[in-house]
Amino acid sequence: MLTDADLTRYSRQIALTNIGKAGQEKLKNSRVLIIGTGGGGSAAALYAGAMGIGTLGLLDPDVVELSNLSRQILYSHSDLGRFKVEAAKERILANNPDIRVNTYPFAANGENLADLSEDYDFILDDASGLQTKFMINDVLATCRKPYAFAGTNWYNMGKVGTVAGGSACFRCMLDLPADLPADTRPGPVRVIGPLLGVIGSIQAMEAVKYLVGGHDLLRDRVLMFNLVTLSMKISPVEKRPNCPFCNAEGETVKGEVSRGERT
Ligand SMILES: [Zn+2]
Repeated sequence: MLTDADLTRYSRQIALTNIGKAGQEKLKNSRVLIIGTGGGGSAAALYAGAMGIGTLGLLDPDVVELSNLSRQILYSHSDLGRFKVEAAKERILANNPDIRVNTYPFAANGENLADLSEDYDFILDDASGLQTKFMINDVLATCRKPYAFAGTNWYNMGKVGTVAGGSACFRCMLDLPADLPADTRPGPVRVIGPLLGVIGSIQAMEAVKYLVGGHDLLRDRVLMFNLVTLSMKISPVEKRPNCPFCNAEGETVKGEVSRGERT
């Protein structure tokens, strides 16, 4: 039930026909897990909390470092050394104390993610590293848990897509022609803040679209854009008939590892 304060706080988005009071109430009763609270996860979590998604889960094992602050807008200089998820919770609740934020200060793996994902309606993959993203996809696609993935290649190119309702998965997407070359150069991560802000914002919007009705999702499609040239395109993604993940029967993969620390 929306309160008077809710009607005021969310009045601008309630005025949108695709949301309205019914949609806002769905958001209030929804649970979204964000894996990785770095650059993309910062933008996604800030918007998800501000928009009134009722319960957020934040999963990240890292502490805030000085090199994070140029793009991870959840954090302040005074947060250096703190667990990211704890600093993030404080920041999100400072904006919107009416929601709930659960924190998981550990890394996702196949076991804990299968277990944890059962508590959430939609998941955002803002993890880094291709192997981690494969693991997240394999668990969630097999469980039929809807989620939005995002990634960057080089410092100016981003991609976002959603896996839901038995659609093609992240593994299938990588069968696309090599529009985005992998950055295999040695050295530090090369990325710039606004690119991550854009992909995190798009992911937050995918979550909202799914939660209020599932219309117009980036499903069986991937959005790719270049933030320097401002070129943007949406490419279809075909489900591979032999993909073992998005063709799974939808059974839940249960792990033996407990959910660990939850707050
Ligand atoms: Zn697949």
